[in-house]
Amino acid sequence: MAHPSLYPCFLGPYGENDVLFEQVLVELLRDHVYWRRNFHPEDPPAIPTAAAQQPEYQAFSARMRRELHALSASLKRSVPFHSPRYIGHMASDLLLPGLLAWMATLPYNPNNVAGDAAPVTLDMEISVGLQLARMLGYPDDERRADCAFGCLTSGGSSANYQALRLALALKAYAPALREALTALGEDLRVPALPDGLRRCNDWTLGNLGTAGVIALQQAWAARLAAAAPAERGRLTAALQAERIETLGSVEYFRRHPALASPWVVVPVTAHYSWPKAMKLLGLGTAQLKRVPEQRMRMDADALDALLEQAAARRQPVLAVVGVLGTTEFGTLDPIDRIVAARERMAAAGLGFGVHVDAAWGGYLATLFRAPDGSLLPHAAVREGFRYFPTRPVYDAFAALAQTDSITVDPHKLGYLPYGAGAFVCRDHRAMALLAEDADYVFERGAAADYRATFRALGRYTLEGSKSGAAAAAAHVAHRVLPLDREHFGRIPRETVQEAERFHDRLAGFAAALADVATVRVPFEPDSNLVCLAINPRGNHSLRAMNRFVGRLYDALRIDAQQPLQAKAFFGSITTLRPEALGPADTARVLAELALDPATLAEAPREEAGEDDRIVILRHTLMNPFLHDTENGIDYPAQYLTYLEMLVRRLLAASPAQAVA
Ligand SMILES: *Cc1c(COP(=O)(O)O)cnc(C)c1O
Repeated sequence: MAHPSLYPCFLGPYGENDVLFEQVLVELLRDHVYWRRNFHPEDPPAIPTAAAQQPEYQAFSARMRRELHALSASLKRSVPFHSPRYIGHMASDLLLPGLLAWMATLPYNPNNVAGDAAPVTLDMEISVGLQLARMLGYPDDERRADCAFGCLTSGGSSANYQALRLALALKAYAPALREALTALGEDLRVPALPDGLRRCNDWTLGNLGTAGVIALQQAWAARLAAAAPAERGRLTAALQAERIETLGSVEYFRRHPALASPWVVVPVTAHYSWPKAMKLLGLGTAQLKRVPEQRMRMDADALDALLEQAAARRQPVLAVVGVLGTTEFGTLDPIDRIVAARERMAAAGLGFGVHVDAAWGGYLATLFRAPDGSLLPHAAVREGFRYFPTRPVYDAFAALAQTDSITVDPHKLGYLPYGAGAFVCRDHRAMALLAEDADYVFERGAAADYRATFRALGRYTLEGSKSGAAAAAAHVAHRVLPLDREHFGRIPRETVQEAERFHDRLAGFAAALADVATVRVPFEPDSNLVCLAINPRGNHSLRAMNRFVGRLYDALRIDAQQPLQAKAFFGSITTLRPEALGPADTARVLAELALDPATLAEAPREEAGEDDRIVILRHTLMNPFLHDTENGIDYPAQYLTYLEMLVRRLLAASPAQAVA
């Protein structure tokens, strides 16, 4: 690791910071005990001091110790995520401040479903939302009427469900309001609509876009604020009766057929939480429209064409989702082009939200932020890197500020334990549409009550009871390492630099193996994930190559039958599917690897060694200790030496079997 400022940030591959970890943990756990004793010190101990001498007590504690030691023993078969020899999936060592805060909070057991159950950690969660908002370029001043809002979720998947739920609520709101106004014999005017709301049809009202819906909601809030309490209840009930959340989507879309079967547009590389979300919301995976890629990034021209088609056919679109760091390849979609498409299509009468699935890449945004929260210019971000960020990558991050909502996982590149995803919404007022009951606080438009409102967090989230420890961990980690380039950004800086070095070494690696194999990087990496294709020389069959890479992976994966120490390195694999790559890139990759295109099966096959896709090695370079400058050990370089040996050994032992 190059930067000494990172030395105390993690427990370390060798447990180097064990003393620091243990000292603070013991301090904090003792502190917890004092807290218990100080609640009402006059209450005597309920468990007798002599209890520990009783046989039942001793039998219990013996059994507990035995089982805990058995647990500890079996946990040693876990995946060594902390090690720089682990470059497989999206996991690494944990940030010490986050891990300690999490552990220290557990015995207090706060429940962040509501402020009453979490007077301390719920405020921290709201602050974490604002910290993330600032990192992403959203307004983070809670006094602002349009301040962002973010909260923690169990993970990126559930943040994505929340995003889709919000997009649906936004799409369906205005037509419901029109119906309510009609029933009440009133009308409402907003600048965006030249006529009163009641003269607008479903198509117009369903395509207002996020800002348009929020403007309407604010006008309605002003109307409610002017009403007497009894009347306010009547008005609110009239709207509730018409909303999709009340009617259910079947009945709502029956009444508003112009908005039925809306599309959700994602890149072909979208994470599988998106089809799950479509099923969960009853929208159906048939409405999940997958835009093809170019070099594993969403093809913005294809997106434009799809949206033009939707506008021409009056096909409603709920949201367009861009991925900032695909799970399989780490590639980044052109968020700026998606935002531009939203603006252009809005002018053509097609309104939709833009959500960014930045579960993986969200924290890379720290590299683009100055400590004052401003976006750094491209030249300043490039400093210290060889390629990162390319212009398209810079433009994608710069455009985050203009999107409607973002998923980001503190338990990925935020280096926190699992159970910490986050959903961030650009304008907190939109969240009122998700509230579990009529929201008077919002309807009074009380921006000053920002925190009071969200202390009833469970009214807005998919989760009910949820861990306050996760919020404490994220809060403390972000306080110790603020989410800008100078602080937290040092971690991704280190790992992206490592990925660049790794990538640069691959030409030499390919040359070293040229006598026995063809080695290619199928597309340039955008961040710190690097993929590698390897085909034995003389082989032209895709199936044989896939089998060969599968055998390489056998040496690089966790094996429950073998001691951990038998493994030198851990890697992972992924597949390039022709429908994701597109015909041109598929042909290019096959040709570069000297594979016969005729060996690519058209349809998916069930058997192992599928030949309808290209199996490649995948390396996640997120461990902060990949390069040990102290001892002069470069783990990614060692890995390549090991991989070369592995390739040669496999091919030498049984060339026929290796590719059979
Ligand atoms: C990891 C990931 C998810 C899912 O997040 P979980 O925390 O595993 O639920 C969604 N989208 C992308 C792009 C991801 O990388």
